[in-house]
Amino acid sequence: MSRLTDTRAFAIYPTLGIVFSVFLMIAARRGSLHALEQDRPRPGWILRLGAPLASADTIGRVFTKLQVEPLRDAVQAVYQRFKRNKALGSFHGHDVLIIDGHETQASFRRCCRGCLERRLSDGRIQYYHRLVLAMIAGRPVPFLLDIELQQKGEDEVACATRLLERLLETYLRAFDLVVADGLYVRAPLISLLRLHHKHVLVVLKDERRDLLKDARGIFAGQAPMVVREKALERRIWDVEDLTTWTAFAPVRVVRSVETRTILRQRDRQEETVQTEWIWMTTVPQAETSGAKIAELGHERWMIENRAFRELATYWHADHVYRHHPRAIEAFWLMVLLTLNLFRAFYLLNLKPVLRARQTQIYIASQIAADLASHGPAP
Ligand SMILES: [Zn+2]
Repeated sequence: MSRLTDTRAFAIYPTLGIVFSVFLMIAARRGSLHALEQDRPRPGWILRLGAPLASADTIGRVFTKLQVEPLRDAVQAVYQRFKRNKALGSFHGHDVLIIDGHETQASFRRCCRGCLERRLSDGRIQYYHRLVLAMIAGRPVPFLLDIELQQKGEDEVACATRLLERLLETYLRAFDLVVADGLYVRAPLISLLRLHHKHVLVVLKDERRDLLKDARGIFAGQAPMVVREKALERRIWDVEDLTTWTAFAPVRVVRSVETRTILRQRDRQEETVQTEWIWMTTVPQAETSGAKIAELGHERWMIENRAFRELATYWHADHVYRHHPRAIEAFWLMVLLTLNLFRAFYLLNLKPVLRARQTQIYIASQIAADLASHGPAP
């Protein structure tokens, strides 16, 4: 973090102090730069770090000029800490990387030079930003690795490919299996990962209709393997060496029909719910069973539940602190860094008895109180 710098010609407030202020704002879940500013009783207020707390305006402006690579380096330093503490255990023998796209904001009025555009059915043009997030589905703690902002004129897969190219350089040994949505079933992306000996596991939808049709034809003559676990029953069909998709072959296709018995809330009656899942993967049968492939495929929900939802609800990640492409990227990297550090502290440093007694929200409120109670500078 000592390499943190920005492109201001003249700076009253050092970059590190500004970035530390934002770290506190996110950790204390203050939600906006103005809320952070209210924690500052008078200009020149000194944080425990010894740096003055700048105004919301200054912080926003500096973030439009911030060099983001040191922030990525800081995330990587935290990752190495996790790794050393063995906090990122594998699942069914695989180190799983999940990637998915996320829309951070949308507006009809405000746009910047990095905004994506779409025309709605009523003819209005909407401006928005979208990014691809990569996370390690570690056990017991997931880790948010990196983000990449989608640029004008490219689709989500092109953006994800750029992100993966960077991850293959910086986190080559962090994962061996990439789990993603059906959108990512594209030959160049899968070839890139295979070139680096990474496996893929993607939802198979209509994007590859021929492959889906052929797999279904084979499944019709196959007796499924039945796996039961509490209220869940999985019937698994599994075929490998399918060569239908000529751009990338051979592949394996796994189908899971899942029947779950649930208790209906309104009349307390038992009800069975059935869902069907089909995945395409490069992981061979000899290495991982069909039942485990189904469980690994469901890991994709982790990015919804333990990343996007949590980031937006509790960590204000979708808040537009400053509408500028560089600032959006920098604030998101700060949220990744803060959430990773917070999870490390909460799960690895707090004693289980304290953790049971105090929620993460309570701990964030303590950070907020601490931030507000700091005395003036000597
Ligand atoms: Zn914009």
